[in-house]
Amino acid sequence: MNSTSSLHAAGAPVALSSLSEKVAEAKRRLPLPLLMERRGLRDHAKPSAFCPFHENTRTKAFSTFQDERGLWRWKCHSQCGGGDEITLLEKLDGLPRSGATRQFLEAAGVETRFEPGPRSLAALATPRPTPPPRPLPVFPEMERGGSDDLARLAELRAVSASALLLAVSVGLLRFATLRGHRAWIITDGERVNAQARRLDGQPWEHIEAKAWTLAGSHASHPIGRPLAKTYPNVMLVEGGPDLLAALHFIICAGQLCAWCPVAMLGASQRIPTSAFPIFERKRVRIFPHTDPPGRDAARFWALQLAQAAAARIDAFSFAGLRRANGEPVQDLNDCTTIHAADAAQLKDMLP
Ligand SMILES: [Zn+2]
Repeated sequence: MNSTSSLHAAGAPVALSSLSEKVAEAKRRLPLPLLMERRGLRDHAKPSAFCPFHENTRTKAFSTFQDERGLWRWKCHSQCGGGDEITLLEKLDGLPRSGATRQFLEAAGVETRFEPGPRSLAALATPRPTPPPRPLPVFPEMERGGSDDLARLAELRAVSASALLLAVSVGLLRFATLRGHRAWIITDGERVNAQARRLDGQPWEHIEAKAWTLAGSHASHPIGRPLAKTYPNVMLVEGGPDLLAALHFIICAGQLCAWCPVAMLGASQRIPTSAFPIFERKRVRIFPHTDPPGRDAARFWALQLAQAAAARIDAFSFAGLRRANGEPVQDLNDCTTIHAADAAQLKDMLP
């Protein structure tokens, strides 16, 4: 991008006096479609696309468009909201408006003192000052679940009962009845982020999606943060089903003392800098979903982990693996139903 020239006449910086002028300049330099492309959301930067903020592969609820003034906007026609480039960063990174504005100005190279702004994906991941604390969410009452709940979930996700019992005992898994449906909820001891799925495997009617991030959640909070502090090795996974599968494989491998799972609840989520310390000097293995957003997320998380001073970062590949039904493995949870002929390829999952 060489649009910095618009700010410099014969090498002399032109002062933009007000914040609104700076934002306007930033929007000219880094319009929403370009910002989305940088953040791995290119496939969503269309008039009609699947929403990156909620899981739904049936309805294209997301739209990126220009309003009557020519300004770029995004909107989810389900429940995720809408807005401009800054609102998108608020939603993606769990930032307050002020923090998202600052991040956007920096990403677009519009700075108070006109220092060269970040240009690359790596620069976009540069640690920012910690934003002021957000209010804690108030979640519905959650239960540890009965044997019926555990049996249904073990069958639904094809994970061992021992993995589920472990998940309950360390506070990563809870159950509740929400909107008339029995649900399993992924959360952790900090109780700032929670995502509910129906135990019957069906989508929630009110969002037309399977994964419901409960209101008030800090959606970018890595699930398992309080646990991960004390483990030398971290499995970094995407979503609740893969979190359960991670525990399944940690138990299978007899690695309960060595490996701990951490889940980002969505490929569009970025690791908040406040969570960087849990990865410091750790070995982190990422288990990317095989779809393009999953691969983009893994690349971005790897950059962030490097900034968090993780000791060793790599990713596990599902390439070539098949499920028992012959379909390709697309995520870690699919590996719990791996084809017998491919099972041996999982033996090095946790070195
Ligand atoms: Zn949405």
